[in-house]
Amino acid sequence: MNEHQNKLLELLNSESKVYALLAPAFPIDFPHPQIVGMLKELGFEKVAELTFGARMVNYWYKKYIEENPNQKYYIASPCPMIVNVIEKKYPELRQYLIPVVSPMHAMINICRDRHPDYKMVFVSPCQAKRALEAPRFPGLVDIVITFKELSEMLEEKGIKKDSYPDGDYAFDSFITEYTKVYPISGGLAKTAHVRNFFKPEEICIVDGIPNYLKIFDEMKAGISPYRFIDVLNCVGGCVGGPDIKNKDLPLEEKDRLVIEYRDRAIKDPDDGKHGDKEYAEHIDMGTTF
Ligand code: SF4
Repeated sequence: MNEHQNKLLELLNSESKVYALLAPAFPIDFPHPQIVGMLKELGFEKVAELTFGARMVNYWYKKYIEENPNQKYYIASPCPMIVNVIEKKYPELRQYLIPVVSPMHAMINICRDRHPDYKMVFVSPCQAKRALEAPRFPGLVDIVITFKELSEMLEEKGIKKDSYPDGDYAFDSFITEYTKVYPISGGLAKTAHVRNFFKPEEICIVDGIPNYLKIFDEMKAGISPYRFIDVLNCVGGCVGGPDIKNKDLPLEEKDRLVIEYRDRAIKDPDDGKHGDKEYAEHIDMGTTF
């Protein structure tokens, strides 16, 4: 067990009530709905996934674009690596980052609004959330644990999916079906309905380091044909996260697992609790870069 796993075990064994928030790429590594019961056996009091947070992020993006219609470029990214690259290498592009928090941040805000006494643990497909995003917002998230680290902990404790028959568990917070594709490259642009604001040729969906550096270079030179850039660091989006246990699965298979989860949620009205924006409209999801 590493220091993060030990810190989480200590928290779960304490008197604190602990909320687990699963990044939306979770179906690649964890079985649904069994993961809810498995995490409760590990010691979490509540378990949520982030899709309602992603819906609120989309709502704030839309609001920002409506209120700032004449901006030259709009960079939309929930990825801390992208924010870091822009801050370090392209400071002139910083003004174009849409000042809205990530779905992780948004969902913690939503859960904390309802359960202010809970500790928040984010389950992440990468360490960038821990190393770059968490320190930017002190007090936001108590622990970030990666998919790989959590898988090892479940294995070590002998917690298996077989003990949890299908349908026994639902998430403890709101969900939104259509934002379940958020971890797939282009999921943000698609679900935020940016085509209502930009022509198709003005929208750029890009992932992978060399690909986005080229776009950023063109933007820096003022010659980019794009106005709205949906950008993620990892190839394929967060489904390509380096700390996914099953990271060697083909990209198509990872996408399939995420889409299958979405399709199952759409078909099964008991699968969760659909989140309407009125539940979270009062919470500020803005930020500064
Ligand atoms: S794109 Fe990669 S680095 Fe960025 S948040 Fe997703 S998994 Fe993390």
